[in-house]
Amino acid sequence: DRLAKRIDGKQVSSQVLAEVSEAVQQLQQQGIQPGLAVVLVGEDPASQVYVRNKVLRAAEVGIRSIEHRLPADTDESSLLALIETLNQDPQVNGILVQLPLPAAIDENRVLEAIDPLKDVDGFHSQNVGGLSQGREVLTPCTPAGCMRLLRQTCGELSGLHAVVVGRSNIVGKPMAALLLQADCSVTLVHSRSRDIERLCRDADILVAAVGRPQMIKRDWIKPGAVVIDVGINRIQADTGTRLVGDVDYDDVYDQAAAITPVPGGVGPMTIAMLMQNTLTAARMQLG
Ligand code: NDP
Repeated sequence: DRLAKRIDGKQVSSQVLAEVSEAVQQLQQQGIQPGLAVVLVGEDPASQVYVRNKVLRAAEVGIRSIEHRLPADTDESSLLALIETLNQDPQVNGILVQLPLPAAIDENRVLEAIDPLKDVDGFHSQNVGGLSQGREVLTPCTPAGCMRLLRQTCGELSGLHAVVVGRSNIVGKPMAALLLQADCSVTLVHSRSRDIERLCRDADILVAAVGRPQMIKRDWIKPGAVVIDVGINRIQADTGTRLVGDVDYDDVYDQAAAITPVPGGVGPMTIAMLMQNTLTAARMQLG
């Protein structure tokens, strides 16, 4: 059944958004409306698109969003001052600083300034530490979205061998922590790993977060594995440019039990989980 193999991230993300929307409505009946502050420094075109989509999605589920657009030459201290204001504002439940920040600003210092209870990206060291200890904390949106897709596709994950390709702080490492938390055996593979293909071939679950177009081929996949492709790469095609993942989708398709497409797989899940995190943050702040 060819169609059943394709993991439909758009459909699952709609489910998540519907759940969030319903929970937000219930809060509103108690006079509470969750609020999300989105901070964008500079005019990076991709970041502008991401911010616009986040604001639109928030409106759809009834979350009030507050956009703060700052010029590219904003200095670190004014950005830190804004974050402090947002930390203190009871109407703001979630704070998202769109990355990357201009080179003159220390990204880490900014992320550490966000109140961990409002840190809807889950990048504050307190939340990173909490995740690694298995505590219930705000968790990075992309790996959280991957987990939702995996749970829906595989059901029970306990005992499966998961291989994560890529060890970034925003995807690979938190993905590995979540899979471990779900009782998988986890292998983290990166640019220094030896014999990556062999390691991947042992995976029941393969998560690719590399940023290399169509790197992962059919003979890297164990027959019946579930493949989650986080990669978003723009490549030249006959008809202009198009988006592809880190996995060669057509090549791998018959080998896998299930696989996410790009676009329409992990991408839509990320924003949905951001809305989920904003709701969770509001609930945590209410106690
Ligand atoms: P990074 O560039 O931060 O990390 C890439 C990782 O891949 C690094 O750990 C690197 O290893 C590893 N790597 C690079 N080349 C190889 C190789 N040949 N073999 C094995 N490992 C390799 O990327 P991100 O984690 O931020 O993003 C990964 C991809 O996911 C990108 O395409 C990005 O666009 C996409 N993305 C998609 C999101 C979504 O919403 N769907 C959200 C975030 C990212 P090393 O550490 O050794 O350098």
